[in-house]
Amino acid sequence: VFLLADRSMPTDDPSRDPHVHHHALAARTVVVAPRRADRPHDLTGEPASRRAAACPFCAGNESLTPPAILQVPVDRGTAWHARIIPNRYPIVEPLDGPPSARDGRPAHGVHDVDIESPAHVGSILEAEPLHWRDAWRLVRARLAMLADRGDIAWATVFKNAGSRAGASLQHLHSQLIGLDFVPPQMQAEVAAAMGTADPFGELMSWAATAGCVVATAADLVALVPPAPRQPFETWILPRSAEAFLHETSDARLEALADLTRDVVGRIDRVVAGVDFNWWLHQAPYGRHAAPVIDRWHWHLEILPRLANIAGFELGTGCHISTLGAEAAARLLRQAC
Ligand SMILES: [Zn+2]
Ligand SMILES: [Zn+2]
Repeated sequence: VFLLADRSMPTDDPSRDPHVHHHALAARTVVVAPRRADRPHDLTGEPASRRAAACPFCAGNESLTPPAILQVPVDRGTAWHARIIPNRYPIVEPLDGPPSARDGRPAHGVHDVDIESPAHVGSILEAEPLHWRDAWRLVRARLAMLADRGDIAWATVFKNAGSRAGASLQHLHSQLIGLDFVPPQMQAEVAAAMGTADPFGELMSWAATAGCVVATAADLVALVPPAPRQPFETWILPRSAEAFLHETSDARLEALADLTRDVVGRIDRVVAGVDFNWWLHQAPYGRHAAPVIDRWHWHLEILPRLANIAGFELGTGCHISTLGAEAAARLLRQAC
């Protein structure tokens, strides 16, 4: 028997509130969130159609989730295209009373679920394109709300698509997280960007020269970065600087929705059914990004999960891939 969490505590026990632990020697931050162990799983390998009745994310089952924070269209009851709800098993929580007495500090922030389809589909390739664009509109609106708050240092939207990528529920969804600190990987990117006048422009010039551009939509570029961690890792970014996704135009947002479908479709044609993660790296809010705010391009990093993250990766921070950037980009370009 594996003990994943201390189940002897009642679920509302404050000692089960999420806490942030930082290990300075390892430059590592861990959120301990015991209630995450209680969350439901439906990725059992059964066909999607057999599981829809009990799915909390399906239209008609809104009573199974907390009320929506945002929904589009707003005024059509259960005929929504996308909705954002608070995560029932958050890794960070709103500021609420004094911290409980244990190590670490309370994990403050926002953790939402973006339900990206009213129908029980598992892949963005099965979503209605218009619903999919609306899901991105909601993300933009929610990130704008978080930017205005002042207590959030950085926010992101990320997707775990498939069980190998960490998903626990089948129904198409992403997660939005706002943290009261800038996480180590973002700190490293911001520090690297400080050393170069136009780091993202250089990345795009390199990709154009090396043959690593996969596709474009409006003024967005999808490219394979120079050191892809897994075969077919792809980044999407705007050609001109834009620090935050909530500042983007309708045209760019629609291009982002369309280009994510395009790129995931290409990856799926090369490696059918592959699980993947993606996450948004927008600039930290406020003073946290001051030195790089004018040169930052928000970007979406899409990482197919073909190989395990194993001992070498965990022990060194380096990755091993079986395919280089140029070869991966060529295959993705042909896969349309
Ligand atoms: Zn569903
Ligand atoms: Zn990044």
